[in-house]
Amino acid sequence: MRIIKPSFYRDFKCIAGACPDSCCQGWEVDADEASLAYYADLDPSLEIKKKIDSVLSKDEFGNSIFTLAAKKRCPFLNEENLCDMHIAIGGEHTPVTCRNFPRFFNNFGGTEEIGVSFSCPVAADTMYNLEKWELEEELNSDLPSLNDIDAQTYISLKNKRSEIYSILLNREENIKDRLVKMLDVCSDIIDEKIIDTVDFMSAFKNPELINPEWEELVDKAEIRPVENTVSNENIAMYFIYKYFLTSVLDETVTPEIAVKMAVVGVLINTYMNGGAWGIHLWSKETEHSQYNMDRYKRLLSNADCFGIENLKKMINY
Ligand code: SF4
Repeated sequence: MRIIKPSFYRDFKCIAGACPDSCCQGWEVDADEASLAYYADLDPSLEIKKKIDSVLSKDEFGNSIFTLAAKKRCPFLNEENLCDMHIAIGGEHTPVTCRNFPRFFNNFGGTEEIGVSFSCPVAADTMYNLEKWELEEELNSDLPSLNDIDAQTYISLKNKRSEIYSILLNREENIKDRLVKMLDVCSDIIDEKIIDTVDFMSAFKNPELINPEWEELVDKAEIRPVENTVSNENIAMYFIYKYFLTSVLDETVTPEIAVKMAVVGVLINTYMNGGAWGIHLWSKETEHSQYNMDRYKRLLSNADCFGIENLKKMINY
């Protein structure tokens, strides 16, 4: 299998107890079937087994989750901000979500694209301050997985994405011009159906608030000119890399939504003015809340504030 990953990926390290905004605080953790089966077989006299049984419950989508403790902390997060489950039964038996976070994996059969999410403050800081977004490729011994990807669509989107990469990474042009050019080369895959009238800033007031600091940033946000910075280039590249091809796996993020996410990501950085921490807060709040993310995708498709012509005006403000 061909593995594609950003060049910084291998250097990413979780700082666990020293983390300024642990991923074990603020959201519920899903317990996957394999982990649940392992917990069911644990010796009932073990303290960790008793604890697991006491906090397991179901969310509104029917997923098995661990009920959060006070201040929305994971019930296994101890006072040193370390994981009691990891300590008691080993990191390999924590839920798959915990083991993988903040990594994402887009498996296209013969190629898997992997990366890390802005929702981790360490990953956010690394990506925000990268000198240049570069991808690396390697081959491993895994066989390609079976899939029902439409090969023609996949190849055509991959070609389009390469074109977008060249546009976004061309530092001879201002990032504003690069973003507009990206929207223009995507005009053939954009089919907007604007039906909602929504104020731009209110689109970021998420119904599920994870960290009140995000709401404070939104309340203080101001419309400002987009700056020609490497961080803005990195933000746009992150969204295109992570989402542009995923419609071949799952229809929920179309290429149109992906390019809008890239533009809006730069506008969030510009208006909320929170640097790497601001983008981290946005990502934790949105990319990792099914409820908020579903709403955000719907607004990107339907809301006038995220219409292409309005986005171009905001880029060129
Ligand atoms: S948010 Fe990142 S650095 Fe912090 S505990 Fe989670 S993986 Fe580690």
